Amino acid sequence: MEPSDIEPGAPSGGAPTAVDVLVVGAGITGIYQLYRALGAGFSAALVEAGDGVGGTWYWNRYPGARFDSESYTYGYLFSEELFDEWEWQEHFAQQPETERYLNHVVDRFDLRRHMRFGATVAAATFDESTACWTVTLGDGREVRARFLVAATGVLSVPFFPAVTGRDDFRGEQHHTGRWPATPVDVAGKRVAVIGTGSSGVQIIPALAETAASLTVYQRTANWCTPLNNRPITAAEQAQLRAECASIREVLNTSVAGFRHEPHDRATFEDSDAERLAFFETMWRSPGFAKLSSNYTDLLFDPAANAEWCAFIAAKVRSIVTDPDTAEQLLPRDHRFGEKRPPFVTGYYETFNDPTVDLVDLGRTPILRITEAGIETADGVRELDVIVWATGFDFGTGALARMGIRGRDGVALVDHWADGPKTFLGVQTSGFPNLFFPGGPHAAAGNNPRYNGDQVDFVTDALVFARDHGFDTIEVEPEAEERWTAMVDRGAAAAPFGERSYFFGSNIPGKPRKYLLNSGGRPKLFREIARVIDTDYEAFRLSRSSAGAGSTA
Ligand code: NAP
Repeated sequence: MEPSDIEPGAPSGGAPTAVDVLVVGAGITGIYQLYRALGAGFSAALVEAGDGVGGTWYWNRYPGARFDSESYTYGYLFSEELFDEWEWQEHFAQQPETERYLNHVVDRFDLRRHMRFGATVAAATFDESTACWTVTLGDGREVRARFLVAATGVLSVPFFPAVTGRDDFRGEQHHTGRWPATPVDVAGKRVAVIGTGSSGVQIIPALAETAASLTVYQRTANWCTPLNNRPITAAEQAQLRAECASIREVLNTSVAGFRHEPHDRATFEDSDAERLAFFETMWRSPGFAKLSSNYTDLLFDPAANAEWCAFIAAKVRSIVTDPDTAEQLLPRDHRFGEKRPPFVTGYYETFNDPTVDLVDLGRTPILRITEAGIETADGVRELDVIVWATGFDFGTGALARMGIRGRDGVALVDHWADGPKTFLGVQTSGFPNLFFPGGPHAAAGNNPRYNGDQVDFVTDALVFARDHGFDTIEVEPEAEERWTAMVDRGAAAAPFGERSYFFGSNIPGKPRKYLLNSGGRPKLFREIARVIDTDYEAFRLSRSSAGAGSTA
């Protein structure tokens, strides 16, 4: 085998480096995949487009960025020592703490020497004669790998809407998903935020603190509820440590990867007064508990959902002092949970600040960006800074931009022209030895838990192939069809509506296909067990003509 280490900053154009496993992406999934591959005895390396560790938590460094999964449920669970030694400061950590945590993990497990930063994948081609991937980086350097694991994430390619004149603007403009490392100073400046999804509603209160004025451009209102963040007390820290094993057990088996207790009652089993009291408890509950611990029929009975929405609407009307603004902040086009709900801290209160304005794009659409600001149907607002909180090319965005070509030179983008086809959300037929844990057809919920399940499966599959002398592992088309059909069938029953970006509907021209695993984590567990019981029957395993084990 060739040496596993990639020299950080190695000069471009040097001799190709060959490894067993090349991981793309130093986010939470890629770091874990690198750790597992090395631990299983493979030579492995990781390339990352950014200049540092963190993935989502590297790129999304905008003010106000923080978890909405509890910190200790989002962090890694594979090492009790790591769980013990890292003290999260808040129940929902801010981006800088998460970035520090991921850097700590990388150094704690001596992973950094296997990583190369500033290394974008320009092309990845499968060579059938050697059963290896040749990965070409942006600087022209090549890495040959037996197995290629794209841990490139589902929310990693920022989306900018095609608004006329975007390049004409003379002020500063930034996307939340590519926030600069150098702090953006908005003190005394006229700032606009376009978009009111999870990113928009986090950055809006943070910017309002110092901006001279803040204009929020909202196309669709969201059902936002309080995150209810707070510091973790010393007693809670001690309790977390004491309960590490049981926390791990719950998180490793729960459907959505959360620790919240599911409720046992349906909405109309309670009297009006009981329901109101329960909704108050939900309003004060942490983050996603409003979904996972709410009434059992919340997402399935429109009348039940309407009760909860009416409760939220009353809260918004009681917080926002201007009645017209309050009405504009209430969704009219979707139920709670039909889109991924954002969780907020001081969001609605921000609109009581006289320097904050809400522009309802339904009433006054954006016509163009000018040199001076944003022109809507009612005139131009002059601005110094525009923030695009306009989301991402979800699910397939990153994989579609890596120049991936499998057997017979077939491009992944062509194989997926009508939407992604996968087995277990980790492999697609015709692309041997390519895996993408945490990619399309992963489940909704607390991402690191589900993605970690997939990384564990990928690692086991690689070990199985190696231990049985195979150097190619490729999902059978039949297994891929079966899984993809399950996803498509389940999409009709999914709580998310077709307006959700989970169907790719925010990207013009993208096929409207469900991009999550509609069977959820239980389906993934069942299928993985079946794969293992049948000695990987769903996969074709073979030896290359160049001989097993050779990546040279
Ligand atoms: P998003 O949910 O897709 O929201 C994008 C926003 O931009 C929406 O309000 C959308 O309006 C608006 N928009 C898009 N095109 C527009 C246009 N042409 N004109 C005006 N407005 C436009 O993206 P996001 O807020 O970045 O969040 C994406 C996901 O990232 C979240 O759902 C979540 O999974 C993750 N995230 C998590 C956290 C966290 O707390 N941990 C924080 C941020 C993000 P429409 O609704 O009308 O399309």
